[in-house]
Amino acid sequence: MTWQRFAVLATLVAAAVTAIGCAQQTPAGPRIYVFENGAIRGLDPALFNFTREELKEVDLVNASYLIVHPRGTLMFDAGAIADAHLKDDGSEVTEGVVTASKPLLPQLAAAGYAPRDITYFALSHFHSDHTANANEFASATWIVQKAERDFMFADSPQGIIQPATYAALRNAETKILDNADFDVFGDGSVVVMATPGHTPGHQVVAVKLANRGTVVLGGDLYHYPEERTTGRIPTFEFNAEQSRVSRARIEEYLKTTNGALWIEHDIATHAALPKVPGYVD
Ligand SMILES: [Zn+2]
Repeated sequence: MTWQRFAVLATLVAAAVTAIGCAQQTPAGPRIYVFENGAIRGLDPALFNFTREELKEVDLVNASYLIVHPRGTLMFDAGAIADAHLKDDGSEVTEGVVTASKPLLPQLAAAGYAPRDITYFALSHFHSDHTANANEFASATWIVQKAERDFMFADSPQGIIQPATYAALRNAETKILDNADFDVFGDGSVVVMATPGHTPGHQVVAVKLANRGTVVLGGDLYHYPEERTTGRIPTFEFNAEQSRVSRARIEEYLKTTNGALWIEHDIATHAALPKVPGYVD
């Protein structure tokens, strides 16, 4: 083992020990851990109905989240490149337009959790930049909209989809929602909200935090902040009209709760958030 490798390992172990120490105290209210899952580079802004000049940033980040609640945990999304495809030395791996260097499970471990500890698992939607490690969470209860699940397990689903990355979910314990919201822990503090349009059963998660107030983990309801200000819809929506309705519903919800929207792919939003073992509460 080289000194560099030893130093990296020692840091990881120290971070894990610290995090496990924290996680043993069950928090009084929900907290959100933010995980880094790389970037999407080189997309054509025209895909999103923008010109290059109209966007502040064209590149996107990939993120996923762990919500820890006194009654359990909810993992939301699962990264863009599977941990098994990433390198031990932390160097970048590129698959298509997606690049990543940090595996997800060590980040989860830094929060104090292994996949088998996770109570609930939800995807914002089935696109492959969100599902890479989904199979790891098949022992959790999968929260999914019926229309999304039907699409995912159709005979030969087409589009931005890699069924092998989530195949194990087929037999997971599943909470199927029929275009409905779900109060995950029964106290209204963590609610999965149906927001179809980008895909047949896209969903976001609203979290009521003691310090930050209401936060909506927005999945791909938007990709760029400029979509929010202009009302433009990407070219590759499953149903653009549904997207408009879902966006209007969440904007209204944010207004009434004075909530913040975290656009999952937005570089600036992501950069401003603490990363594991830090958290937001
Ligand atoms: Zn996406």
